[in-house]
Amino acid sequence: MLKLSRPHIDEAAVQAVAATLRTGQLVHGPECEAFESELAAYLGCAQVVLVSSGTAALHLALLAHGIGAGDAVLVPDFTYPATGNVVLVAGARPVLVDVDPRRYVMTEATLAQAIADWRGPERLRAVMAVHEFGCPVDLDAVGAIARRAGLVLIEDAACAIGASWRGRRVGALGAAGCFSMHPRKTLTTGEGGFVATNDAALARRLRRLRNHGMERYGRAMRFDEAGLNYRLTNFQAALGRAQLPKLPTWIEQRRELARLYHDALAFLASEGVLTRPSADVPGHSWQTYMVVLEGRIDRDRVVRVLGKAGIEANAGAQCLSVLPPFERYALADGQAQRLAASGIALPFCEQYGAAEVQQVVEALTRAIAGNDPEDGGDG
Ligand SMILES: *Cc1c(COP(=O)(O)O)cnc(C)c1O
Repeated sequence: MLKLSRPHIDEAAVQAVAATLRTGQLVHGPECEAFESELAAYLGCAQVVLVSSGTAALHLALLAHGIGAGDAVLVPDFTYPATGNVVLVAGARPVLVDVDPRRYVMTEATLAQAIADWRGPERLRAVMAVHEFGCPVDLDAVGAIARRAGLVLIEDAACAIGASWRGRRVGALGAAGCFSMHPRKTLTTGEGGFVATNDAALARRLRRLRNHGMERYGRAMRFDEAGLNYRLTNFQAALGRAQLPKLPTWIEQRRELARLYHDALAFLASEGVLTRPSADVPGHSWQTYMVVLEGRIDRDRVVRVLGKAGIEANAGAQCLSVLPPFERYALADGQAQRLAASGIALPFCEQYGAAEVQQVVEALTRAIAGNDPEDGGDG
């Protein structure tokens, strides 16, 4: 089976985890502190706070800003559900924002439209800028709108480690940048995540909230507020540290793979059976490569046919408007619904190259041609 992606754990990473296990320090520890400094240096920001998942990072970013009941948060309609779930779990109201059809992220125009359409009694407090699949959101335009409207800019960079906007790494350009280290992301610790920020007071609050609300006063400690246990383990940090030096090379390999897919799919695109993602986005880190099938093609059937040919594919992300928790806040229609219904994510990771692209594109071409029931269907 050609998997959608494969985690990249080499022998040195295994050894680093084993060595950390032998120290007996399993929860937060020195590997975590070293990893936080190395990630901050990589991102070019003042502080990184490791947490137990990308969802934990997003949840803490809202809590640390005091966002909850009576507040509303702008969230793109096309994303992983976690981005919207944390808003609901925090007690706030999500306000959905449509996305660009070729970049799959919110734009200046879609954000401005959502704010203009906003009528609720809640107070608009924040915008979640999701760099979906590693495609950077236009942080100049979105940041300017956020500033004018007095909104906190939270970056959901969960799948965008290594992406940059105008030469600066995403995740450190808003108030807080939230990252995931789930195995589907380019750098993985199994479960895991972190928040990046340049605000020392915010970092301190995040550290307190991830550790039961505890503060240290010299050698004494006190539980100063209600917090959570969202800590990352020391051995997970060791796993992440082993990968970080390789990340820039992996991102370059992913950019090359995206170019290979773009060229190999040119014929299907010219036939009008699918649309490729924008190939000309500087700073894209390509966590996922998703194409959008023409509306009459049954995406789920194409996924099944590819599966039978030994190729794993899936829907790239979700449209929140059509998920039960968000029904009350749904957009009437938009690009997000189409992307979620017809998007197909293809096998993609730095270990793949021209051979895999050829195998996928040939199988995809057959699967799409077989979409015509007169060709016999998928049996
Ligand atoms: C992966 C992802 C998340 C969730 O991260 P977890 O570590 O799985 O909790 C949130 N938002 C986006 C955009 C993601 O891609």
